[in-house]
Amino acid sequence: MELPLFRHNRPDRVVTFDEYREEGGFEGLKKAFSGMSPNDVQQAVLDSGLRGRGGAGFATGRKWSFVPRDLPGPRWLICNCDEMEPGTYKDRVLLEHNPYSLIEGMTLACYALGVRHAFIFIRKGYEKAAANLARGIEEAKQAGLLGEHILGSEHSIELDLHLSAGRYICGEETALINALEGKRPNPRSKPPFPAVKGLWQGPTVVNNVETLANVPAIVANGAAWFKGLALNPEGAGSKLFCVSGSVKNRACVELPIGTTLGDIIDGACGGMRDGKKFKACIPGGASTQFLKPEHWNLPMDYETVAKAGSRLGSGGVIVFDEGHCLVEATLNLINFFARESCGWCTPCREGLPYVKEILTRIENGRGEEDDIAILREHVKYLNYTFCALAPGAMAPLDGLLRDFEDEVREHIVKRKCPLK
Ligand code: SF4
Repeated sequence: MELPLFRHNRPDRVVTFDEYREEGGFEGLKKAFSGMSPNDVQQAVLDSGLRGRGGAGFATGRKWSFVPRDLPGPRWLICNCDEMEPGTYKDRVLLEHNPYSLIEGMTLACYALGVRHAFIFIRKGYEKAAANLARGIEEAKQAGLLGEHILGSEHSIELDLHLSAGRYICGEETALINALEGKRPNPRSKPPFPAVKGLWQGPTVVNNVETLANVPAIVANGAAWFKGLALNPEGAGSKLFCVSGSVKNRACVELPIGTTLGDIIDGACGGMRDGKKFKACIPGGASTQFLKPEHWNLPMDYETVAKAGSRLGSGGVIVFDEGHCLVEATLNLINFFARESCGWCTPCREGLPYVKEILTRIENGRGEEDDIAILREHVKYLNYTFCALAPGAMAPLDGLLRDFEDEVREHIVKRKCPLK
């Protein structure tokens, strides 16, 4: 069955507006505006089982349903394209090949939610994607598919691009809202949740690029069609997996939800590089626990990966082979998170650099036996922070200590400096 996200992609260039339309693009929009109420669109997304593809995996239709219907004043939709986590690059690939699914998906979401004005908050380095979106928005407006009186209806919807200042914390939805308001991007305390009080105090939905890009196909083909794309009943739809590390072909691929880890690596990426043995992988971006060789046949859907002790997350799969040092890999990730901490709360601001310091000394052969216990304490306490950045940072470390403690211990013993 044809999968919805990459079906318009050309290997070497962005799809054109005419090509997208000829291949069924904007059919979802036409269908919605010619006979579906906003509630119908919302219900279709709810029934489809679509879950947020940015990392948290929350049900999209449910998230939309939290927006109060009766509040006066404007409401907002924000597309979160501030993709910055190591190993995750799927939204960039999607938008560099096809900006129209997102534009159509956002227009449908605005229609369903009663939003008049929406924003795409895009990472600063994504110039090509931003240029595609800017051009696509103009083309859609010229064709009467966006802007004033869409398809001759009473509905008018504007989309605006906003370039991020380029910090990882801007991808946290409340920090993103602060950034869009021109404030320092610290996360806000919740509740109130953005669906009730978000941008300029109005009800606000923040969805990821991949999530919104799925909406046109759901509306055009129906919720049952979308559910049927998955390979197992626990899932719905397809997923973009961006695979990096020790595979032959590092690539961003679209596969049905429920595809096994082994099929992603062997089938879609040509197998392990240089005939090396699979040691572990991070399955869902930098803030997920490791999966091990015993998970080779694990279906990649939200529930099954969670039961295996990790998360499907963003679908950023980083593959490690037998020659990789997972202490070093974890240190690299902690280094990133420590740098990107916004500094708002003490455990994260002080704790992450300390974890980095301990891992660095273990890596440099100066580790102590009780370092493992100290690291475990940090995994525990860095879960009590103001936002999810620090708990996310602890996930690979938690996985390292849970599944590869022997490797950490070996590091401490074998690399111990004899002169110390
Ligand atoms: Fe900022 Fe870290 Fe606290 Fe989140 S957990 S608010 S990133 S200091």
